[in-house]
Amino acid sequence: MESESYDVVIVGGGINGCVAAKFLSEDHDVLVLERDQIAAATTAKASGLISVAHDYIGHLEAAKYAADFFDEYDGTGDFEFTQRKNLRLIPPGTEELAQSEAEQIEEHFEMDYIESTSEIEDRYPGALELDPFVGAIEVEQGGWVDPYTLTITYKEDAEDAGADFETGVEVTGVTTEDGAVTGVETDGGSYAADTVVVAMGWHTKEFVSEWVDLPIRPFRYQWVNLEVEREFPDYFPVCWDIRSGLYWRPEHNGDLHVGGGTYYVDEPGTTRTTPTESFKRHVAMTIPEQVKNVEDARISSGDTCHIGDTATPDERPIHDAPADCPDGLVISTGMHGFGIMGSPVTGAAVRSLVTGEDAPFPLSKYTLDRFDDGPQDWTTTFINESPDDIGS
Ligand SMILES: Cc1cc2nc3c(=O)[nH]c(=O)nc-3n(C[C@H](O)[C@H](O)[C@H](O)COP(=O)(O)OP(=O)(O)OC[C@H]3O[C@@H](n4cnc5c(N)ncnc54)[C@H](O)[C@@H]3O)c2cc1C
Repeated sequence: MESESYDVVIVGGGINGCVAAKFLSEDHDVLVLERDQIAAATTAKASGLISVAHDYIGHLEAAKYAADFFDEYDGTGDFEFTQRKNLRLIPPGTEELAQSEAEQIEEHFEMDYIESTSEIEDRYPGALELDPFVGAIEVEQGGWVDPYTLTITYKEDAEDAGADFETGVEVTGVTTEDGAVTGVETDGGSYAADTVVVAMGWHTKEFVSEWVDLPIRPFRYQWVNLEVEREFPDYFPVCWDIRSGLYWRPEHNGDLHVGGGTYYVDEPGTTRTTPTESFKRHVAMTIPEQVKNVEDARISSGDTCHIGDTATPDERPIHDAPADCPDGLVISTGMHGFGIMGSPVTGAAVRSLVTGEDAPFPLSKYTLDRFDDGPQDWTTTFINESPDDIGS
C-alpha cells in the first residue's frame, strides 16, 4: 500500500511541534504525529510565564521577537495573554550582574533599572516585602499564558491552514534513501515526507542518536499554587529572584503561583510526579519574606512534570538541520524550561530551517555546532535542588 505523502512530517505534538506546524502550514502540506494527546506531556505542566527579556539574556533579538509575537497573538482563538510587567528583583551583592543584564535588555526592550526599594514600593504599593532586595529591573513587555490553550490555538491555526494532526500514533523511525529523508515509520504504518521535524522533547536524543549525539538531558521544574487571604492587585508583576531561584505571579483565581526547584533526572517517568518536600519547604520559608501578607498561605495544588523538560548545557534550545543527519531532518529540542515563552522562536527557527528563509534573529545561536568544543559542563546551568533532597 502506498503511504500518504506530505511536505513536512512533525514528530511530537507538544508546543514545539504545534508551533512549527503553525509556522509552516500556510505554504506546506504538514502532518503532526503525536503518540499521546496534543500538549499532554511537558507542555501541559508549564507555569506559562512569559519573561523573555530576563530569561533570554544573550539572545535578546529572539526574545524581542517572541515578546512582540505574544502581544500580537493575544485574542487569537481562545488564547489570552495576561500582560504584566516583569520584575527581576536584585538581591544585595548581585548589582554588577544586574547592571550588565540591564544594559543588554535596554537595547531591545522598554525597561527601567530601579535602584531603590522605596521606588519599587511606590510603583507596586503593598505588593512585595523588599528587605531581601536592593532594586529591580522592570521590563514592560511580559506576563503569562495558559500553555495548553496557547498550544491548542497554534494547532487550530495550523489546521485552518490545512495541516493534519494524528494522535495515538508512535513514530518508530525515520526512513532515508541516498542520505536524504523519505518519511517516517509508525506503529500504524508509514508516511512519505521531504522533511521530518523531530520535536519530541528529551526523547529526541535517542531518536536521532544514529546520526548525532545531542547534548541534552531530562530535568524537572516544579511549581505550587498558594491559597492566600490577600488579594493581588492588577498591577502585581511577574517576579523572579535569582537568589532563591523562585518566580511568582498571581493566578486568575486569586492564588499565588510559585515555581522553581529545578533538578536533573536520569530516568524520567520512573520517579516522583509531585513537588519535592524540600521545594515546598523552600517556598514556605521564602515566599512570606518576599511577598506581603501571605503568612497564612497554604498549598492548594502543585505539580512537576514526571516526563521532564529537556536541558542543554547553555540553557538554550537546539534548532538545527545538522550536517551529520540525513538531508531534510530538522531537530527542535532543548527548551530548558522556556519552551512556552520560546515557542515563537521555535516556529520561526524551524520555518527558516525548512524553507531556507532568513530567521528574524541569528539562527546560528541555536545550532548544534556551538557545542563542538565540548565536553559539556552541566554544572553551570541553573539547577537549585540537591539530588539528596529529592527522594523517590
Ligand atoms: C513545572 C514546569 C513549569 C514550566 N514553566 C514554564 C514557564 O513558565 N514558561 C515557559 O516558557 N516554559 C515553562 N516550562 C517548560 C515548557 O513546559 C517546556 O519547555 C515545553 O513544554 C517543551 O515543549 P516540547 O514540545 O519540546 O516538549 P513536550 O511537550 O514534551 O512534547 C514532546 C511530545 O513528543 C511526543 N513524543 C515523544 N516521542 C514520540 C514518538 N515516538 N512518536 C510520537 N510522539 C512522540 C510526546 O508524547 C510529547 O507530546 C515549564 C515546564 C515544567 C515542567
